Amino acid sequence: MAELPPPSLRLTIDADVLADNWRALDAMSGAAKTGAAVKADCYGLGVDACVPALREAGCTHFFVAHWSEVEAVARHVPAARISVLHGPMNAADAAYAQQTGAAPVINSLSQARLWQESGGGTCQLMVDTGINRLGVSLGDLSDPAIASLDVDILMSHLACADEDNVMNARQLEVFKQATEVVPHQSASLTNSAGIALGSAYHFDLTRPGLALYGGVPRPELANKIKQVARPEAAILQTRSLSAGDSVGYNAEFTAQCAMPTGVVSLGYADGFLRSRGGEGSHLLHGETKLPIVGKVSMDMIIVDLSNAPSLREGDWLEVPFHLPDVAPNSGLSQYELLTTLGQRFKPR
Ligand SMILES: *Cc1c(COP(=O)(O)O)cnc(C)c1O
Repeated sequence: MAELPPPSLRLTIDADVLADNWRALDAMSGAAKTGAAVKADCYGLGVDACVPALREAGCTHFFVAHWSEVEAVARHVPAARISVLHGPMNAADAAYAQQTGAAPVINSLSQARLWQESGGGTCQLMVDTGINRLGVSLGDLSDPAIASLDVDILMSHLACADEDNVMNARQLEVFKQATEVVPHQSASLTNSAGIALGSAYHFDLTRPGLALYGGVPRPELANKIKQVARPEAAILQTRSLSAGDSVGYNAEFTAQCAMPTGVVSLGYADGFLRSRGGEGSHLLHGETKLPIVGKVSMDMIIVDLSNAPSLREGDWLEVPFHLPDVAPNSGLSQYELLTTLGQRFKPR
């Protein structure tokens, strides 16, 4: 195969900052251990770029959602340290768990039975304490199918940890009851935001995801969490518009006076959705803001280069990606900003 020429899009992951974020969350987790949610390819930032840094920082528990996500993570950490949140849906899933050693998270009585039928062994158990997503309800915990499980981590998941909501304390109480019913090695309740709710919520293990990757779900985390990912895109072409010239699909923008523009190699196929264009949106060259004009296309956006008229084809522009700042005007959550980053940012 021919060698790939240099790309016109790039994503830089600062592994040191990622490790610092994990250590900050670990410090906030007090006596509890701190794991890492690495599902969805580390929230879109790439398992290969992120998992080794988390491992070196001291993280020992890794959470994915799908069985298909185990292999990539297991290249970097022992499979026994990987939990699969969706649990086994069928005999093939259970057999895969037995063969790889990845830990199934049991979410229902039927998953508990399926696990035992496949040979059983150590597993994890998700209790539903009010989110009504996955998990065994409190009333079902005394079922023989649950009593027969060998539970390593007993866990639940908070619905409203990113807000001050009475749900948090309510879920905490239900989870405490669950810990008294089910024998287990360790208990785990909180995601990133939940860590900031205080030591009562920490139990033995916390499970941050978003904040590792630079997300700030609660103000208490704002000064501790730093930006990990820096997407950049190159200018493909520069143009000089005259007053009255329009830009892009549906001629949505019309130049009021002569202006230089840059056509940039970034579009909605790269996760830069149309909702991120529009009023007030910009790319950056150093500190200089370059307003985005016209509609976002699949592979291109246009920026006004009036503030940096010396920029040329091939010059790199930074996509603002400080998640708590970018999310409010983007129409997207911080989670969505991360996980929609397109494949072209991640050449193999
Ligand atoms: C995704 C997930 C997490 C991590 O949540 P963040 O809000 O990203 O910190 C923790 N636990 C479970 C069960 C999850 O699904």
